[in-house]
Amino acid sequence: MKIQKYLFTHTLKTIFMVLLMIIPTIMTANATLVLNDQDSTYQNFDVDYFIEPDGRFFDIGDIQEVNFTQSTSNKISLGFQDNEIWFRLKVENKSSTKKKMILEFTEVVHNVVDLYTFTASKELTYKRNGLNIPVNQREIQESTPSFKLYLEAGESKVLYLQLSSTHGIFGAIQLTDKTEYYQNIQMKKYLYLAYLVALMTIVLYNFLYFLYFKDRIYLYYITYVTLFGLWVANFKGLLLPFINAEIFIVLQLIIPLFFISLLLFSQSILETEKRHEKLHKIYNTIIYITLFSILWMSVAPESGFYLMNLLSTPLLITTLLSALWYLRGKGIINKLYIITLSVFTISMTILSLLTLGVIPYSHFLSTLIVVVSIIEIVLFSLLLAYRINLLRKESFESREKLIRQQKSESTRLFHTVGEKTKELNRAKEDLEAELKKKIELEKHLKHLASTDPMTELNNRRAFFELSELEISKAKFDKEQLSCLVIDIDHFKRINDTYGHDVGDIVINDVAKLMILNTRTKDHIGRIGGEEFAVLMPKTNAESAYQIADRLRENISKHTIAIDNHEAIKITISIGLSTLTKDKDETIHTLLKRADTALYKAKNNGRNQVCCLPEKISEEA
Ligand code: GH3
Ligand code: MG
Ligand code: MG
Repeated sequence: MKIQKYLFTHTLKTIFMVLLMIIPTIMTANATLVLNDQDSTYQNFDVDYFIEPDGRFFDIGDIQEVNFTQSTSNKISLGFQDNEIWFRLKVENKSSTKKKMILEFTEVVHNVVDLYTFTASKELTYKRNGLNIPVNQREIQESTPSFKLYLEAGESKVLYLQLSSTHGIFGAIQLTDKTEYYQNIQMKKYLYLAYLVALMTIVLYNFLYFLYFKDRIYLYYITYVTLFGLWVANFKGLLLPFINAEIFIVLQLIIPLFFISLLLFSQSILETEKRHEKLHKIYNTIIYITLFSILWMSVAPESGFYLMNLLSTPLLITTLLSALWYLRGKGIINKLYIITLSVFTISMTILSLLTLGVIPYSHFLSTLIVVVSIIEIVLFSLLLAYRINLLRKESFESREKLIRQQKSESTRLFHTVGEKTKELNRAKEDLEAELKKKIELEKHLKHLASTDPMTELNNRRAFFELSELEISKAKFDKEQLSCLVIDIDHFKRINDTYGHDVGDIVINDVAKLMILNTRTKDHIGRIGGEEFAVLMPKTNAESAYQIADRLRENISKHTIAIDNHEAIKITISIGLSTLTKDKDETIHTLLKRADTALYKAKNNGRNQVCCLPEKISEEA
């Protein structure tokens, strides 16, 4: 409510003042400020002023003769003036006590702020102030030009304030009670200190971020905040106790520098090079123009400052308008940026217009830039934080994507490996089957090679091989071994009577009977058409004879039933030989002897077993 009322009355006053400036005053000015018992500060009164014409220089003697025709509010905004200005004010102490007042000019940027006071008895005091006078040489050692003004009760004084400035004439003349003045100064110092501490914290914080992220956007931001803070500090006179007027003027270079850092920061945060090429070019152009103004300012600081003031507003507005045009799409970063830039542009424009004397001075407008700088720095901080989040999100997403890719790649690989393993297993199985087949085939071939196809007995070759093995074993173990040679009796007759096929059946029957009547350790072979041999390891002649005779007997009892024929009965003759101790004994010598025995059996009437030597058969 209070603020609204304040703003309302200020707006009205402002309009009124503009009207006053437009309508030339024809009356003779005669400004007077009356001090009373109630008020301790006087912030609203009028002063007379006089601008020295070109080519004429006035001193205090001359100025007392001048008829002041113009007056203004104590809040002065007269713009850039090449010539000196004189302000005149009569102060009357109508209070009942002595008034210890401080006369203060609220802005520090003016080179000359000199005060001449005359008492009623025309007594003159003269005090110098302004940028040209170092703070420690001033009557009151503060940045803002301030003078002691003590008035006895009922006393009146006429004040002449001489002002000369290269920065545009603006600021307020105000009278404050001495104690209150110092309280205010102290308060202001605390506020500015808090402001600078906040800026330094932001700078430090972002510097740490810079160290972590190595993104030069932080450097631009830090540069911008530092320069902005430095400029505000200088503009508000915080540095004045430590520097002289020359440095103060040189420090005005900060304005274009921080403007450039703002543009670089903007280009970075908006990624104009990548996303908004045209805006990037416009910002570059503005940077070049600003660099040019820096050059101008360093060559001719005084006119350079004026140029910068003239240029800054159009440049800022161009910046804002081009941003509005090219960033009109959605996106929080763009929106936040435009809001921040708008706030900044408006406040800088107001300040520029203030120094140029286009708009009336007020404390509010003069401190606006400090407040705005805080708002702006905070908003840009938010912008940065948002960007970091965006970057983090992007990097997180790309990492996720990479992980997903890797996962699918490994799944694919895993799948492929699985497939390959399966294929290999299949190939292995095939190979094993093939090998098995081959072994089986080999076995079969071996079987075929060693077996008589009709009787499934060992063929002649296999029988001889087996027999040689058994004989050498028997020789080595010194064991006995016997051998039989068997021939079917009168087989020709069977062939002749029943046919060759029946003869084959008979041969097969005899083979089966031989298997049944011998032992597993005995080897049976078909060594001729209807001739067989049996090799009996670990068997002496007696045992062999018994087995042979039992076989002979069983065959003679056996009848072979053939379709459409009477049962056939056959007999066999067997020749038996046993292994001698003769070293040269082989299967051939053994068989030869058995053959001889067989021949004997045939001659003796067949169906009998004969031995060589004959001992056994005789015993039998
Ligand atoms: P012996 O009592 O003197 O032995 O009179 P044998 O008739 O049996 O005379 P021998 O042993 O010399 O005769 C063999 C005959 O066996 C000659 C041949 O025709 C016949 N033969 C040989 N091999 C086979 C064969 O595989 N199948 C058939 N059906 N007959 C065969
Ligand atoms: Mg024969
Ligand atoms: Mg025969």
